[in-house]
Amino acid sequence: MIVGAEQAQVEAELLGGLLGCPSCRGVLGPWGHARERVLRCVEGDRLRRPRRARCRGCLGTHVLLPDLCLLRRQDEVSVIGAAIEAHVGGEGCRSIASRLGVPADTVRGWLRRFAAGAEQIRAHFTRCAVALDPMLGGVLPAGGGVADALEAIAVAARAWVLRFGPGPVWRIVSRLSAGGLLGNTSSLATGTL
Ligand SMILES: [Zn+2]
Repeated sequence: MIVGAEQAQVEAELLGGLLGCPSCRGVLGPWGHARERVLRCVEGDRLRRPRRARCRGCLGTHVLLPDLCLLRRQDEVSVIGAAIEAHVGGEGCRSIASRLGVPADTVRGWLRRFAAGAEQIRAHFTRCAVALDPMLGGVLPAGGGVADALEAIAVAARAWVLRFGPGPVWRIVSRLSAGGLLGNTSSLATGTL
């Protein structure tokens, strides 16, 4: 489950019963911590120990991950997003990898996953954009495949900003996809506003 990156605020929301269960809409309460993990950020590695929460309704437990990351990815979402933008802009994989300081195989893995899910990603973010801004006319085709997926992401992020105020685009993307941007199709489908 993806939450804000400000740990103190998440803690306050958790203790105040303000976080809803993604499975049953019950109220989440604190339930210890998940294992420590490394998040590779632009400024260097950060060690984080995410909070774990348990639903008072269905008793299911959820790990609260900051919107700085995506599920099962070690790199900060802004780095992954920069790679996707550069790729759609025509930059080669090796060049992107060396510029971002990430192994080429890792970048190749992100881009392959993004391309494979492009149609689902486009559809999901188009739905998000329309839900956020019902007046939106639609998302124009940008040239097929990954370009259309990125365009839908941009439109949804813009709709989010108009509604909730400015924020880093790729963190908004993490939230809108419930961390599942590069996951399988079903994990993306559960992403909610
Ligand atoms: Zn629940």
